[in-house]
Amino acid sequence: MEKAKLVQYRGGGYDGCIWEWNYAILIDNKFHDIYSSGCCGCDNIEKLVKYIKNKNIYYAYNLLDKKSIKDFTDNSNNDDIYNVAQYISENLGIDIFLTCTECNAEVLYTDVFLEGARGCGGIAITHDEIICQDCNSLYSCAYCQEFYGSDYDFDENGNCEDCQEKLKKSDIEGLERYIKENLFFGNTDTISAIKRLEILKA
Ligand SMILES: [Zn+2]
Ligand SMILES: [Zn+2]
Repeated sequence: MEKAKLVQYRGGGYDGCIWEWNYAILIDNKFHDIYSSGCCGCDNIEKLVKYIKNKNIYYAYNLLDKKSIKDFTDNSNNDDIYNVAQYISENLGIDIFLTCTECNAEVLYTDVFLEGARGCGGIAITHDEIICQDCNSLYSCAYCQEFYGSDYDFDENGNCEDCQEKLKKSDIEGLERYIKENLFFGNTDTISAIKRLEILKA
């Protein structure tokens, strides 16, 4: 492999729809269509050459150069980076490292989680954060596993607010059931259950 170029260009452009990033790779002048869409998509090299000659907007990255790859990963949409990294790794054997949004660690693309999902018009979803495995286990709720990030305050058991509420509710229900079933026995367990219930409901 002498030359490996990733081309990022403005494809898309369906009826009434705006452009979106499309991707192609040229390996020693062999064309790989990673993603092409709409009327501006280039699914063969002739179309891509024409696109570039028409001075349309595109970026080219050298996949054999770490700095150039970093330029791509620093300036592109996280979901695109992930999809391109996956294609490159599976088809070309080049490993792409992504930067964790929380701790800045460089992590192989297969070892990251995409977090911070948000809609971006229509049905498209993008993710604002790339999270390494360490940060994912550090900053996720111990109970529901949802990722919250380093600035979230979990309770002493590592649970999020939703789960605290949920667990409290099921505690209350359990205690109420226990008290109801054991009220006539009036033993010390029933009394401590009533006390615990009072504290939980306070
Ligand atoms: Zn991290
Ligand atoms: Zn939770």
